[in-house]
Amino acid sequence: MEKPKRRTLSNPERAAGKCRCGAVRFDILVPALWAWHDHSAATRATTSAAAMCWVGSWKKRFRLLEGEDEVTRWEEPGTARSFCARCGTPLFYERDRSRHVINIPRALFESRVGREPRYHAGLKEMPDWAYLGEALAPLKGYPGIMVERKRKKKRAP
Ligand SMILES: [Zn+2]
Repeated sequence: MEKPKRRTLSNPERAAGKCRCGAVRFDILVPALWAWHDHSAATRATTSAAAMCWVGSWKKRFRLLEGEDEVTRWEEPGTARSFCARCGTPLFYERDRSRHVINIPRALFESRVGREPRYHAGLKEMPDWAYLGEALAPLKGYPGIMVERKRKKKRAP
């Protein structure tokens, strides 16, 4: 059996990603700094998703490879969020309190990033309609569609 290739400083492993339309391409050095699920209302409103799984990278380990002109940045106090101007894909989430870190949606990476998303932030802001892994059953007459059997107790808003 061949010995696995060892990573060295001259041969660092990178994880690449891109937006939906492919205009914006980037990569980071692996392993990422962290990966986390963000259930906050602010992220929900800017991504239109119940939650977002972010991969954090030191900015010095991040490279924007293509599409700089397509990156649209929106700032509010303490944060900056970037999107692809062409396809609307959420790209980057930066926070003043972590100035050397850039967060990138896990879903945009084409390969493993070296971190499992084991952290959750903003749980108290999670909506009661978010899917939490409840039991599912096939929906009769709709192949590929599943339906929740029964909601447990309604969570606090
Ligand atoms: Zn795009």
